[in-house]
Amino acid sequence: MERDEMQKKVDLRSCLVCDLENMAVRAGEKKFRGRQVFQWVHRHFSEKIQDMKNVNKDFLSHLEKTAYLRPLELLAKESAKEDSTEKFLFGLRDGQAVETVLMHYRYGASICVSTQVGCRMGCAFCASTIGGLIKNLSAGEMAGQVIDVHRLAPLEERAYSIVVMGSGEPLENYHETIKFIRIINDPMGLGIGWRRITVSTCGLVPAIYRLAEEQIPINLAVSLHASNDRMRDRLMPINQKYPLEELLAACRSFIAKTGRRITFEYVMIKGLNDSREAAFELAEKLRGLLCHVNLIPVNPIKEKPYQRPSLKQIDEFSSILSDRGLEVTIRRELGQDVEAACGQLRSRFADRARMGADRIEGKAGEKDD
Ligand code: SAH
Repeated sequence: MERDEMQKKVDLRSCLVCDLENMAVRAGEKKFRGRQVFQWVHRHFSEKIQDMKNVNKDFLSHLEKTAYLRPLELLAKESAKEDSTEKFLFGLRDGQAVETVLMHYRYGASICVSTQVGCRMGCAFCASTIGGLIKNLSAGEMAGQVIDVHRLAPLEERAYSIVVMGSGEPLENYHETIKFIRIINDPMGLGIGWRRITVSTCGLVPAIYRLAEEQIPINLAVSLHASNDRMRDRLMPINQKYPLEELLAACRSFIAKTGRRITFEYVMIKGLNDSREAAFELAEKLRGLLCHVNLIPVNPIKEKPYQRPSLKQIDEFSSILSDRGLEVTIRRELGQDVEAACGQLRSRFADRARMGADRIEGKAGEKDD
């Protein structure tokens, strides 16, 4: 009963300023009360409605009846030894769990946010997709990841970025992802600039066209991972629906519409997509595009046989691209020992939970069953 009751309530973390203003007006309050609530949620990171000190009692008790504000539950936290990557496993209200990663770079921090529990895109090398899609996250569950990372690991750096590259396909959960981005961008809350937000997609072509029309100048990253359809079909099933030529046409259109450079991610897998021929082919395909290529040595997962190429091989691949005028970076190793690749902490956590390892995991196990 209580659960049904709870589900009818509005998640305050999911509300845009205008939603809260409307809520205030509907409750017979002044509009600015809505803005105050937004600030408590997204600037002061309030943990409960009653913490909102300058909001009048009547509106607070109205909110108690119609809405809820609840931090995500920290189920596990791991820190990498070799760098300062921290990984959080958060429990959601419905008992599911989701991963968020905080990475510290020389130039600032970056928070990697998940948009779905699990994923149905089926990329061959990815841990998130193994159990399929479990659910779409709401904008509030995404904003909650950013807020709760802040609460748990106060960020000294003022400049930090958000990468929507955790588990899930953000453009499949389009509406909530865009709402989340608008919420964290709002200067009344976290005020994270558009250009400090990057969304990564496996290549949902219609959604790329739609995103280009949104008038939100965020960065787009596209997971390419192959230089031809044969290899991309094998690594990324989405390619069978939206082959390379269609994907690159959508990218060209995105660049033309927004004037923004696209980042192409290329996970390097030994013996599969790391040859000199693949590099030549890729350079040819990307010729003339306003883009940047990010080479990522694959993070091996236990379920799959994929290994990283040697550093020499990666360097050679990189040189072929840069010699042909492409801007290339090789991703620095971050968080390998905290299993920072998508879905790895969650899946290992579930494995251990099933074995009843210890208290905190036992709890997740109950929820899993
Ligand atoms: N679905 C989106 C965003 C989430 S995945 C996308 O596909 O872009 C974020 C990035 O991590 C993608 O480029 C994805 O291909 C990559 N990735 C997934 N598993 C990986 C692994 N085991 N090693 C390295 N990168 C991986």
